[in-house]
Formats: sequence, C-alpha cells, structure tokens
Amino acid sequence: MALSKISSLIRPFGSRAFSITPRLCNESGPSFALSEEQREIQATARKFTREEIIPVAAHHDRTGEYPWAIIKKAWELGLLNHSIPEHCGGHKLSTFTTCLIAEELAYGCTGIETAMEGSGLGQTPVVLAGNKEQQKKYLGRLVEQPLVAAYCVTEPSAGSDVNGIKSKAVKKGDEYILNGQKMWITNGGVANWYFVLARTAEDPKAPASKAFTGFIVEREWPGVTLGRKEINMGQRASDTRGITFEDVRIPKENVLLGEGAGFKIAMSTFDLTRPPVAAGATGLAQRAYDEALKYSLERKTFGVPIAQHQAIQFMLADMAIGVELSRLSWWRAAWEVDQGRRNSYEASISKCFAADMANKIATDAVQIFGGNGFNSEYPVEKLMRDAKIYQIYEGTSQIQRLIISRNAFERAKEMNK
Ligand SMILES: Cc1cc2nc3c(=O)[nH]c(=O)nc-3n(C[C@H](O)[C@H](O)[C@H](O)COP(=O)(O)OP(=O)(O)OC[C@H]3O[C@@H](n4cnc5c(N)ncnc54)[C@H](O)[C@@H]3O)c2cc1C
Repeated sequence: MALSKISSLIRPFGSRAFSITPRLCNESGPSFALSEEQREIQATARKFTREEIIPVAAHHDRTGEYPWAIIKKAWELGLLNHSIPEHCGGHKLSTFTTCLIAEELAYGCTGIETAMEGSGLGQTPVVLAGNKEQQKKYLGRLVEQPLVAAYCVTEPSAGSDVNGIKSKAVKKGDEYILNGQKMWITNGGVANWYFVLARTAEDPKAPASKAFTGFIVEREWPGVTLGRKEINMGQRASDTRGITFEDVRIPKENVLLGEGAGFKIAMSTFDLTRPPVAAGATGLAQRAYDEALKYSLERKTFGVPIAQHQAIQFMLADMAIGVELSRLSWWRAAWEVDQGRRNSYEASISKCFAADMANKIATDAVQIFGGNGFNSEYPVEKLMRDAKIYQIYEGTSQIQRLIISRNAFERAKEMNK
C-alpha cells in the first residue's frame, strides 16, 4: 500500500471515527448502527478517556496509585454504575452499552478501567439476586456517593476451582459468623462493601450448587482485615489485595437470595461481566494497533518508513483482523444477554478470544516498535504487561475453553435429540 494512502488512515488519539458498532438486528435485518443515545455515550466515554485517562495513565502505572480522582469524575459523568436499576437511582444500561463504555475507557488505560469494572463485578450479584431493600441500600449508596464495590470469591488455595473455597459462614441466631481468607480481590482495599462467597453447608460432600451462600459484607465491619496492595506486572492502577475475615458478624438480611444460592449467583455474574472484560481487551488491542500503525509510518529503515515493508504490513493486517473480530465477539455476547438469553457460551468465547488477541496484538506492537518497544518511554510495553491478566482474571483462558467445550457438547446433544 502506498504510504500516502496509509497516512490517511491515521487518526489522532481520541478522535477515532466511530467504529462500526452494532445494534445487531433491527426490523430490516442485521444492523451495525448505534442508536443516538449509544453514540452520545460512546462519545462521552471517548472524550473522558482522551482528557482524563490518557494524560495520567503512565503515572498510575509507575506509582500504582489508585485513580480516585478519575473514579470521582467518571461517577459525576455517569460513566460508573451502568447496571444499577432505576429504582436505586441508576441508569440500568444494556450490557451492550456497558461494553461500549468499557472499550473506550480501556483504550486509555486498562488498569484504570479495571478499577471501574471491578466495581461492576462486585455489584452484579446484587443486581441479579438482591431484594429491593438490599439493592436500595447497597447499590443506592454507590449512586449517591463515588464509592466502589468488590467481588470476593478467589482464595489462596482456590481460584479456578471455586468449589474448593474454604471460607465458612455459620448461622447463629439472626447472624452468620464469617471466617476465611480471600485473595486477589480487585478494589479489595478501597471498596465500601463486598460480595463474599462462603461455604454454609455442614456436609463437606454437599454439591457446589447447594454448599455456598453469597453475602454482602461491609469493609468497615469488625473482623475485616485488608492485606497489602499487591505489586502486579500490569494494570497497576487497580488495587488488588487479600482480605481476611475473622468472626465477622453478618446480619441475615445480607444473605443474597437465600442459603445455598451463592454458587449460582457467583457464576451467573460472569455472563454479564465477561462481555465487558472482552470489550476492555478489545480497547487495549485497538490502542496497540493504533500506536503501531502510527509508529510504522514515522520510523524509517533502509530509507523508507517501516510501513512499506510487507512483513510489517502483514503484521498490521493481522492486528486489524484481531481487533475487528474481538469487537464482533463482544457485540455478540452482549447482544445475546440483552435479548434475555443465556450467553455463557458466547461470553466465554468472547472473553477467551479477545484476551488472546490483546496479548498477541500488544506483543506485535512491541515488535513493530523494535528496541523502543521494550522501553517505558514508549506506550506499548505497558500495553503488553497490561494485556496478560485478561487471560487470567474472571476465569483463565483454559477455564473458558472448558466452558466452551461443555456448552458445545450440550448443544450437540440437543441437536441429536
Ligand atoms: C490482578 C488480578 C485481579 C483479580 N481480581 C479478582 C477479583 O476481583 N475477585 C476474585 O474473586 N478473584 C480475582 N482474581 C483471581 C482470578 O480470578 C484467579 O487468579 C483465576 O481465576 C485463576 O485462579 P488461580 O490464580 O488460583 O489459578 P489456578 O486455578 O491455580 O490455575 C493455575 C493454572 O492451571 C490452569 N487450570 C486450572 N484448572 C484447570 C483445568 N481444570 N483444566 C485446565 N487448566 C486448568 C489455569 O488455567 C492456570 O493456568 C484476580 C486475579 C488477579 C491476578
């Protein structure tokens, strides 16, 4: 491709033309047009990313400082708490629109975006399974003040194998007494309240579907102790830590849905939160691609911009394929759940694919930058470090593949009936 042609594709950050983003179907068939409202929300998130996130992303990466100032501004603009129902003062946006916002914010910094998304992860069990009083009290609080929530499931000896968690809650009168240790909790040190999954079944052989209960636990309650902030490889703006619960007294009013319902609540949450995670990975991939494309037009070797070497053009083409298909995958996963259909299969495909693509594309971006790509003066080494966690949190890529294959077998059985 001639250099002048490629140059016309370059867009300065924050002024990207609208990507073809769909309402996948309307009366006349498949549609890739955003509604007026979605376009406005996307534009607001894009402007916010350009003005508030990109300028400070390197600082938060270097220092690990939690981005409270950004969280507060995002809260004021309505870029947080998308899924909170209207009766609690929220906007109750569709999963699709939530993902639109996630992709835009992640373009600026996935560490900052994860800090925001981690709160959505903590809220979702209450959105799904909370009664009106619980929702008003705990979701309403997040609408009234710039506070965040967190999701506490993982433990030192149980991550992928949720059935192995050891935290225990024992009923005593009108309370449950919670003891246990959680690990790797996003927003662990800053959340106002947590969704906590703990074993309540006395029978150690009770099936997971009956053995666990979901609770809302406030950070300030006696017996809640925070671990130190973990020093992670990437997404360093996000606060990740362990939390210890020692004889924490939880009123029975803070049980979600009823004793034994916790495992289902914790797992169903991912149907709603994996599409935004995939959208976040897509935002990172788009940024890596944009950075690499821009650099390839500026950097010269052998007398020409490296964009004129076919090897670089093909890498960029593969990166573009990855970005576009990652986006399509979260569109589909989000659209399915917005139609009221079970989307575990699509959500896992999207989360797995977008995570793998973000890693490949960020690594290729570093390659296109050559030595400069390995240096923190340039933006792409951060993208490569930030990308890795997408293959680990909210279910590793191996666990996504297990879910996908299980669903595929079930579908095959259905078809053969
Ligand atoms: C930065 C960060 C933020 C996080 N945020 C949260 C949070 O907010 N809340 C929360 O509850 N947790 C959170 N987590 C925890 C995260 O979800 C777990 O780390 C993840 O689920 C993997 O669990 P594990 O680390 O125990 O790995 P393990 O489960 O020990 O897995 C180790 C390896 O074995 C593979 N593996 C395991 N079982 C199988 C299998 N059956 N088949 C094939 N391969 C398998 C895994 O894919 C992985 O590669 C976070 C983690 C990190 C690092």
